[in-house]
Amino acid sequence: MVVLLVAVWRLWRRRLALLLERQHRLEQERNRAEEQTRAMERLLVEARQATRLKTEFLANMSHEIRTPMNGILGMMSLALTTELTGEQRDYLETSKRSAEALLALLNDILDISKIEADRLELDPVDFSLRRCLDEALQVLSLRARQKRLDLLCQPQPEAPDALVGDPVRLRQVVVNLVGNALKFTDGGQIAVGVNVESQNGRQVTLHFSVADTGIGIPAEKHKVIFEAFRQADGSMTRKYGGTGLGLAICSKLVGLMGGRIWLESQVGQGSVFHFTASFGLSKRPGEVTPAHPAREAEAQTRPLRILVAEDNAVNQKVAVRMLERLGHQVAVAGNGLEALAALDRQPFDLILMDVQMPEMDGVETTAVIRRQERATGAHMPILALTAHAMKGDREKFLQAGMDGYVSKPISLEELIVAIEALEASRPPAPA
Ligand code: ADP
Repeated sequence: MVVLLVAVWRLWRRRLALLLERQHRLEQERNRAEEQTRAMERLLVEARQATRLKTEFLANMSHEIRTPMNGILGMMSLALTTELTGEQRDYLETSKRSAEALLALLNDILDISKIEADRLELDPVDFSLRRCLDEALQVLSLRARQKRLDLLCQPQPEAPDALVGDPVRLRQVVVNLVGNALKFTDGGQIAVGVNVESQNGRQVTLHFSVADTGIGIPAEKHKVIFEAFRQADGSMTRKYGGTGLGLAICSKLVGLMGGRIWLESQVGQGSVFHFTASFGLSKRPGEVTPAHPAREAEAQTRPLRILVAEDNAVNQKVAVRMLERLGHQVAVAGNGLEALAALDRQPFDLILMDVQMPEMDGVETTAVIRRQERATGAHMPILALTAHAMKGDREKFLQAGMDGYVSKPISLEELIVAIEALEASRPPAPA
């Protein structure tokens, strides 16, 4: 009996020891797993922080790069309006084209990082599809003529014209695809087509195609060329140039427009790029605004007294000269405090306010002005002058009490449009 009991006791003890050991092992494993989870969480936080820093860095870099670009492009535009010899005009025009190419590249890099950081937003307005396409192709028709290529645009008659969507981004996709078609085609034609993929009461999905008779793309590259920095052939890069960003941007923009992008191509025969995009149907056909208002670079509004608040000396000069060319009277302040002092000294009709300034920035200065106005009931029109155009910025500036914004580098056309819009919304002066 005793022997049996001892045996059972030993058995139990061994079992217990095993169980305890197992529990200990499990606990150790759990601790390890928890530690791993914590490490992963730390890494995730760090990765998110790094992405945010990268986006912020790019936004700041873009400001830093655009500021001198504003000076370069602005001064060249102004110089081109003066009397020049043919040779001087040629040099200046070539420099301006190079500066514009540099700016386009910068915008591409900024676009791709904005998209990656989920900070690119569409700006929907009523627009005319055919006018948007015409404007896109107008930019490229000169290059087509130079290469002796036919450039055709044939939207199907049933494709509705009065749409609601972002014509600027649609044009960007079309310009990119047609630009590529021109680049990779040496003879024949490029044809842009549009037809209706589907339509219900308020929405239409359009199918766009850009067909060329160029070098074509091998089947195994059909997917990778939509990735950022990827090109069909590394060696081609030297022949054709480019960054490999265009199609990646197109693909993301098309995604934002609720569509998709794909291609058919045969090496040596040509390529057809297709994309779809969804739009609203405009309730106000006939009232649609042109996608990019073509303006005479002449003042349409009465002469105004304008205060330019901007800290960068070159940018001050660009803004002042442009506004003076439009027939306005201009005074300059180097920061927000100086702007407030100038407002105390004399009346103005409008302020062009740089957002980033030393001492007191544009947002803070606007807040002070708006606070002062609460007592008087007056309203000074303020246009933000900004090198940022990130998602949420427009809302931020409008919330800060600004009435609109002009992005740098300032163009005469954009200035005219912004000032006219402000003038049009100004309540009539009391009689
Ligand atoms: P980039 O043109 O700046 O190189 P993209 O992203 O616009 O960048 O195009 C990526 C690559 O896809 C090009 O380098 C080229 O190899 C190929 N590709 C794009 N469009 C065409 C086309 N119409 N015909 C032939 N190859 C093309």
